[in-house]
Amino acid sequence: MARERIISGQPIGPEDEQFNMALRPQSLAECIGAGELMTKLRIAIDAARQRTEPVEHILLHGPPGLGKTTLSYVIANEMAATIKVATGPSLTRASDLVGILTNLEARDVLFIDEIHRLTPAVEEYIYPAMEDFRVGFVVDSGMHSRTINLPLKPFTLIGATTRAGLLSPPLRTRFGISLHLDFWSVDDLLARARMSAEMLALSFDPSALEMLAGRARGTPRIVNRLLRRCRDYAQVKGDGRLTTDMVEAALGLEGIDALGLDELDRRFLRVIIDIYKGGPVGIEAVAATLGEETDTLVDVVEPFLLQIGLLARTRRGREVTARAYDHLGLQQPPAGEPGPLFDQ
Ligand code: ADP
Repeated sequence: MARERIISGQPIGPEDEQFNMALRPQSLAECIGAGELMTKLRIAIDAARQRTEPVEHILLHGPPGLGKTTLSYVIANEMAATIKVATGPSLTRASDLVGILTNLEARDVLFIDEIHRLTPAVEEYIYPAMEDFRVGFVVDSGMHSRTINLPLKPFTLIGATTRAGLLSPPLRTRFGISLHLDFWSVDDLLARARMSAEMLALSFDPSALEMLAGRARGTPRIVNRLLRRCRDYAQVKGDGRLTTDMVEAALGLEGIDALGLDELDRRFLRVIIDIYKGGPVGIEAVAATLGEETDTLVDVVEPFLLQIGLLARTRRGREVTARAYDHLGLQQPPAGEPGPLFDQ
């Protein structure tokens, strides 16, 4: 991504990541969020514990910042196991992966973030590891070549990806459990904001945290980040206490509006309105006009705009909705009339 985006669900630096680590819950009971996902995890963990087996391989998918890494650490903790962390792009050679796999103890967790970015060569080694807990590699070449099978201790692979559709089908089907992480409700975000504010020993008005939660784009990582910006602001411009005035001013400074949208969200909508008459338009065209990566738009910008109904995805492309015009304070041209580009 070209520039730092306060609203981005992705970590934006080591300091941000450290802050997030410190605020992560350790056990499932401490996790915020009820619902089916938590129930499924609880059952999978309890069942595995009773059988003294590893938890089944789990695929976690959903936009960044919603808790995939957190849940993986929690699962490892619940299993009293060690977690090894890798990312798809960092495992460039099969030997990197084999090295990690052969060092896993029984019931350990291997967490691979951005698992859709594994190279096909590395992926080949994952299949037998997941299915039969073994890796096979070829030694020597030509006539003398033979395959050596190395047994592995039974482990759990947790793969994380922003979009399950990006995974190759053979890899996707090898996960016993596949869970989608959705944007959080404002209530859950508020609980997260309160938990973080208490951990940081901040003094706050409850209404200030409500405002923060409402503007965090459904994303716990963003709640934490906004809280930090507001804390700094209140410390410098006020007496340190988080009030709605402080939150309003701090978020205004960051260009975050009442729905929690930032500059890139608004530019995205404006481009579709101004250049493409409100759509439908292909995402590549929008990306090229904005000078952003298509993947960034698809993974980070679009999901929330779709979720809150400012954008619609049709077979013919992306279209902004009447609500988006309203939010931006623009008049929607009557159907059939040329858009602003043609007025100029
Ligand atoms: P992802 O891996 O999906 O990008 P993270 O796991 O890093 O997201 O989550 C970002 C932050 O959100 C964490 O640091 C943590 O503070 C918070 N968080 C995520 N899931 C939970 C949860 N279930 N309960 C409480 N806080 C959570």
